[in-house]
Amino acid sequence: MRKTKIVCTIGPKTWDKEAMLKLAQGGMNVARLNLSHGDQEQHARTIKTIREVNDELGTNIGIMLDSKGPEIRSGDLKQPLQLEVGDEIIFTVERIAEYPDGVVEINYDGFINDVEVGDVILVDSGMMNLEVKEKTEKDVICTVLDAGKLTSRRHLNIKGKSAQIPPITDKDWADIDFAIKENVDFFALSFVNGGSVIRKLKKYLDEKNSNMQIIAKIESTDAVENMHDIVTEADAIMVARGDLGAEIPIETVPIVQSEIVKFCRKSSKPVIVATQLLESMMVNPTPTRAEVTDIHFAVKQRTDAIMMSGETASGNYPFKSISVMSTVAEHSESIFSHYEEREIITQRTDLPKNEIALGACVIANNIDADAIIVFSKTGETARMIAQCRPMSDIYAFAGDEDVKHQLSLAWGMEAENLKFDEESPEDAVQESIKILKEKGVLEAGNKVVIVSNIQGREESVHAVQYREIRDN
Ligand code: ATP
Ligand code: MG
Ligand code: MG
Repeated sequence: MRKTKIVCTIGPKTWDKEAMLKLAQGGMNVARLNLSHGDQEQHARTIKTIREVNDELGTNIGIMLDSKGPEIRSGDLKQPLQLEVGDEIIFTVERIAEYPDGVVEINYDGFINDVEVGDVILVDSGMMNLEVKEKTEKDVICTVLDAGKLTSRRHLNIKGKSAQIPPITDKDWADIDFAIKENVDFFALSFVNGGSVIRKLKKYLDEKNSNMQIIAKIESTDAVENMHDIVTEADAIMVARGDLGAEIPIETVPIVQSEIVKFCRKSSKPVIVATQLLESMMVNPTPTRAEVTDIHFAVKQRTDAIMMSGETASGNYPFKSISVMSTVAEHSESIFSHYEEREIITQRTDLPKNEIALGACVIANNIDADAIIVFSKTGETARMIAQCRPMSDIYAFAGDEDVKHQLSLAWGMEAENLKFDEESPEDAVQESIKILKEKGVLEAGNKVVIVSNIQGREESVHAVQYREIRDN
């Protein structure tokens, strides 16, 4: 079993059924739909297709909607603007029917207040850079630092600064309602600046009786500063290295990635490393060696998941890309030593109740267990096991379909849905073993570690068991 999960962005190259089947067979664990593009109708069709694929193949692909968030984008252009070093270009927040040559609309009024003379503006996370020379009431006058072509609706960042836009825009609220209606598994919140915005969304989801999980995207200076608060509040985290690298000094991106992954593991929150892992495969059938190395180190950091954006949404080689990602991840995992692994799992978790999971993983590693079986109504206990990154494969038996889908993102596990009665835990254990035998996962003589609840006098308590699988 591959331990590191793969998230694929679905776009024009992959949203039809045939392509989706191929991605599923190639190992996609979570499908990401980017709400910065397309409309709800199109996304609803894609969601339906993913569910059909899950039904047909018996896969457990989770569905993530990723919010547009407070993006700063340049306006539509009649034709691309070829810009040379030293050229002048004017961004304006004025809304008029037609813009003169060299004047480009900006979709965000606060842009004029956020920028200052001397600021550097990054187009598409640094594909082109501009410097602010002058400001008027409505216009920001820039000179071009690197030559390039400006096309329609490009994403802009002010280097080193977070835009002062509310992190959940009106469009995002409409998309949140859409996500609730479609009952998707994850909602990724773009440009999260702190914990309070997550608390706000959580409250809203509670009111709407939705148990959709919130993935906080860390992609701004503010988010890095408030990382602990954000990880504590969110259900999962995405290290969105594109915008992140535009806002913080680029040389600090690897350190920030490694710190976030570490802290998420300590906090038992799934974490996704995203952006440019196989960027060159948008146009080339083979990856660069640097990209392979990037995947290797993300896997070695034991991130829960690695993600593809344009590679699978709009690139020329979506299926080759997932094959490379999966092969590299599997190979990297196969060479982790037991010794190194043990060191990792015996790191303290800071969460006393998680120590029981740690205990289970120590036993499983020591006896080289064939599987860890965990019963987890809400998914929390299953994530606690994943947090310890054990060598044995984890089989989680969730309380319902939604929890099962949400576990698609968690490291090293396969999830099943099993209705179990807390009053008769032995029945649940027998049923789970039967299911795993039928799937060919277990056979007589195998050793398993089981984490389940047993009934105490008044409350149910976690228990760890060791068993050998019998013939019948
Ligand atoms: P973000 O900063 O949110 O990642 P992005 O523009 O880089 O925004 P990606 O999700 O990385 O978007 O996807 C890469 C590219 O794939 C997009 O720029 C777009 O051209 C294309 N794409 C993705 N999803 C869709 C969609 N639903 N409809 C049309 N094109 C899409
Ligand atoms: Mg985005
Ligand atoms: Mg992107």
